[in-house]
Amino acid sequence: MNDNVRVIAIDGPSGAGKSSVSRIVGERLGYLHVDSGALYRIMSWQCLENKVDTSSPSDVAACAEKVEVEFRVENGAIAYYVNGEAPGNKIRTPEINAVASPVATVKEVRDKITSILRSLTRFGNLVIEGRDITSAVFPDSPARFYLTASAEARAMRRRKEEVEKGIANQSVEAVKASLLARDKIDSSRKHAPLVKADGVIEIDSTELTLEEVVESVINSLPDGWK
Ligand code: C5P
Repeated sequence: MNDNVRVIAIDGPSGAGKSSVSRIVGERLGYLHVDSGALYRIMSWQCLENKVDTSSPSDVAACAEKVEVEFRVENGAIAYYVNGEAPGNKIRTPEINAVASPVATVKEVRDKITSILRSLTRFGNLVIEGRDITSAVFPDSPARFYLTASAEARAMRRRKEEVEKGIANQSVEAVKASLLARDKIDSSRKHAPLVKADGVIEIDSTELTLEEVVESVINSLPDGWK
C-alpha cells in the first residue's frame, strides 16, 4: 500500500448504515467512498447471469476469476463497471441478497476482492466500508470503526431504502430475516469473518441520527486526517 494514502475503514453488519456514513464522511473530507460489498454483489450477479451453481465453491471461484471489473472515479466514489455496464440496482435485489453471503465465503473470491481493494489506494485517500476491512484488508489503518445497530433498526432502514429505490417491497420481518441470515454466514465463515477487530472504535447507531454518527467518526480520526 502507498504509505502516504489514508484509509478510513468501516465494518459492521448488514444495514448498520455503513454506506450512508461512509459516503458523507468521504464527501466532507474529500476521500473517495469505496463500497466493498458491491464487489461481492457483482461476483454474485455474474454467477447468477452465467447460471453458476452458487452452492459450489469451485464453480463460483471459476466464475469470479473471469469477471473483469473496471474502476472509475464518479461523484466522490469509486464506481464499478462490468463489460461497460454499471450494475446499479441489479445487484441490490433480494435474489442477490440471498447469494452474496454464500459467494463471499469462497476464498478465491475474497482474495481477488481483497487485492482489488488494496490496489484502489492508487486513486487517493479512501473511506472503505465492508465486513473485513478493519480486520483483514487494512488492519493497520489508524482509523478503523465498527458500526452497529439493533436488528430492528437495521431492518427498518434497509426496508425503507428498498422501497424508496423501487427495488423490493418486503415486510420488515422478511428484511430482518434476510439481514440476520447474512450476518450469521458473514460472522461464522472460515475466511475473514465479520468480527469486531481489536482496537476498532465501536459506534452503535440505533439511537443516533446519521449526522451524529458522521460527527462521531470524523471526531475520532487521527490528527491531521480531517
Ligand atoms: O455490504 P453489503 O450488504 O452490500 O455486502 C453484501 C455481502 O458481501 C455481505 O453480506 C457479505 O457477505 C459480503 N461482504 C464481505 N466482505 C466485505 C463486504 C461485503 O464478505 N468486505
